[in-house]
Amino acid sequence: MVDYNNGSDEVNVINISDLKKSYQVGDMEVPILKSIDLSVKKGEFVAIMGPSGSGKSTLMNMIGCLDKPNCGQVIIMGKEINKLSEVELARLRGFEIGFVFQTFNLIPRLSAYENVLLPTYSNSKNGVDTVQRGKDLLKLVGLDDRMGHRPPELSGGQRQRVAIARALINDPSLILADEPTGNLDSKTGIEIMNIFTDLHKKGRTIIMITHDPDLTEYADRVVYIKDGYIGNN
Ligand code: ADP
Ligand code: MG
Repeated sequence: MVDYNNGSDEVNVINISDLKKSYQVGDMEVPILKSIDLSVKKGEFVAIMGPSGSGKSTLMNMIGCLDKPNCGQVIIMGKEINKLSEVELARLRGFEIGFVFQTFNLIPRLSAYENVLLPTYSNSKNGVDTVQRGKDLLKLVGLDDRMGHRPPELSGGQRQRVAIARALINDPSLILADEPTGNLDSKTGIEIMNIFTDLHKKGRTIIMITHDPDLTEYADRVVYIKDGYIGNN
């Protein structure tokens, strides 16, 4: 097991301390995250809840190395993201982190299979047979009979399955899902949650933002963001 914590027993995939993030809107500095502390252990499934506009996606983007904090520390897999170059950030994003979004974010003109392989064109781990892995992943999410379909020819739940397969193509240890069932009916949402549960059982770390209190039962732990701070209720 990789040791991100210099010999300490607990392996934290994420260590965030006193993170602050504000946005400049016109002349005004609008504070969104005022002081966030969050640690996530390897293999944990953490749900993040909070009112709309509270900064959940903002926090997720920083965990996913898509954005940087104004101040405070964000350490992902032992690496402090404020100290990484753009190239190092891209590698961390590409190899270690899989993203799943509410609106699926698939390329409409590409087939399901081509969408799944997309992340490997810019970044792929040496020695991995991505052609076979793409097929295996579509099978894993129950879409082996839909590989050639394009997103407009798929249902919402099927599109999200393609997006999950795409998130897994580079075998990330950390999966970030921002309201992955937000655009799905509840039955389809449960099917997607079952896929996350299987990934969690296989040892992946999962962070999921959700509005739906029923979905928090899938998580080991729930954290709440409110008024710029994190709490446990
Ligand atoms: P949540 O995901 O919890 O609904 P977000 O993280 O998307 O909230 O947004 C938090 C707040 O930050 C919102 O008020 C939003 O308008 C604001 N915000 C997000 N991104 C930007 C940006 N790029 N510029 C200015 N304000 C932003
Ligand atoms: Mg959001």
